[in-house]
Amino acid sequence: MAEPADPFTETLEFDGDDAGYDWWRNSHPDGFVLAVRARKPPMLHRASCSDVDRDVHPKRLKARGARQICADMKPALRAWLAREMPGNGKLLDRCPKCGP
Ligand SMILES: [Zn+2]
Repeated sequence: MAEPADPFTETLEFDGDDAGYDWWRNSHPDGFVLAVRARKPPMLHRASCSDVDRDVHPKRLKARGARQICADMKPALRAWLAREMPGNGKLLDRCPKCGP
């Protein structure tokens, strides 16, 4: 049922693949990154935000429990959140820096 190429549902995760993650952010400047954090609600960023640059914040972004979920469209990240973190409800922070 899932359409792998549908931008409304497609999400990507580059766990342990910093080069792939950098490439995706650079080639999707209009995309979004959901920064999953331990013990805090996930925070939504624009792909171009320096807060989700692993070179700038390696400790925070590679911490235990930290994940970065990439998508072209915000609804894909909301769907991911509802699917992967159902206990978290629809709780989501927006980055005050990049204003996604
Ligand atoms: Zn941001």
